[in-house]
Amino acid sequence: MPESAAEYRDEARCAACGGRCCIIYYPARCVVTPMEKSWWYGEYSDFFHSYRDRYGVEPLYPPADANAPGTPETVRQALRDLGIDPDACEYKGPAGCIIAWENRPDQCRSYRCHEWEWAETNG
Ligand code: SF4
Ligand code: SF4
Repeated sequence: MPESAAEYRDEARCAACGGRCCIIYYPARCVVTPMEKSWWYGEYSDFFHSYRDRYGVEPLYPPADANAPGTPETVRQALRDLGIDPDACEYKGPAGCIIAWENRPDQCRSYRCHEWEWAETNG
């Protein structure tokens, strides 16, 4: 990340939250058409995670498989039973992101949700 880019780090806050901002696949279930869905998840996953080789951990599940049209709900429920949200980033476990802070994508380290911003602004 360039030194000039903002970085927001409050691991206690985000661990307590559990990573609501990491539900990165759910919006597509509302707006992407069924035909597009067959490839969208894999494409978006690779776009979002352009530097997986730096993460130091393996993804918890394959988002394209868990979200493909016709995926049995039992497959998605089996992930939930493990504490994995099939609508969330494949690196979000029950306690939030499994990637060490220093190895996370730039867009994740530079993100601060509105609630966090509001809390810092208003005390
Ligand atoms: S940035 Fe906000 S929504 Fe995302 S994990 Fe942290 S507290 Fe939760
Ligand atoms: S890489 Fe980590 S912080 Fe970024 S969306 Fe995925 S789980 Fe969340």
